[in-house]
Amino acid sequence: MSNNENVVWHEGSVDRKRREAINRHRGLTIWFTGLSGSGKSTISVALEERLTNMGCRAYRLDGDNVRTGLNRDLSFTPEDRIENIRRIGEVAKLFRDAGIINLTAFISPYRRDREMARALSHDNDFVEVFVDAPLDTCEQRDPKGLYKKARAGSIPNFTGISAPYEPPENPEVHLHTERDDVTSCVDQIVEYLIVNSYLENSLVAAAGRPA
Ligand code: ADP
Repeated sequence: MSNNENVVWHEGSVDRKRREAINRHRGLTIWFTGLSGSGKSTISVALEERLTNMGCRAYRLDGDNVRTGLNRDLSFTPEDRIENIRRIGEVAKLFRDAGIINLTAFISPYRRDREMARALSHDNDFVEVFVDAPLDTCEQRDPKGLYKKARAGSIPNFTGISAPYEPPENPEVHLHTERDDVTSCVDQIVEYLIVNSYLENSLVAAAGRPA
């Protein structure tokens, strides 16, 4: 890791507050964490759709999508998982500064790494969402056939099977996807954003609250 003391952050004339005022919502990160198959991608896609319909600027960073581009050089070893999350944490920080609601959907199995991503944030602009479902439910869903491969031993370091998952201790939102459907999960997150004043009243009034 290089730390060049000759590199200095160059301040522009447009700041985050101006962008947030135009958007009528805070720039924030909604950080989904949970086992493979728990529902992170499904819920983040549905939430991005809902927020966009409400008039918010929302953008989703999905685990597999980032791993095919920015992080294509990284594997699933513990060291590379840390670097994966560090880079995503930095990208999320840029999106917050851009005034955008960015949704990150990564297993992010280690508590310490999620805390590293959170440590780059301030003013409560990091909302951790624990997408919780029992391992056997995730394994039965197996939307990408990965558990089958992991059980057969062809995927090393697979979270829940051959690598640990450390559940969040105090997530801002805790979803139970074996119990609540996708719409209800999205409602719970939107409600959290409204109650905690992440979205301006005028925007919420125009879009309407979840029933
Ligand atoms: P992840 O991104 O966490 O690996 P996915 O979203 O790819 O998980 O897969 C979750 C699977 O579970 C999908 O097939 C989805 O249709 C199904 N599913 C069932 N109930 C829910 C729910 N309440 N929330 C999200 N996904 C659900």
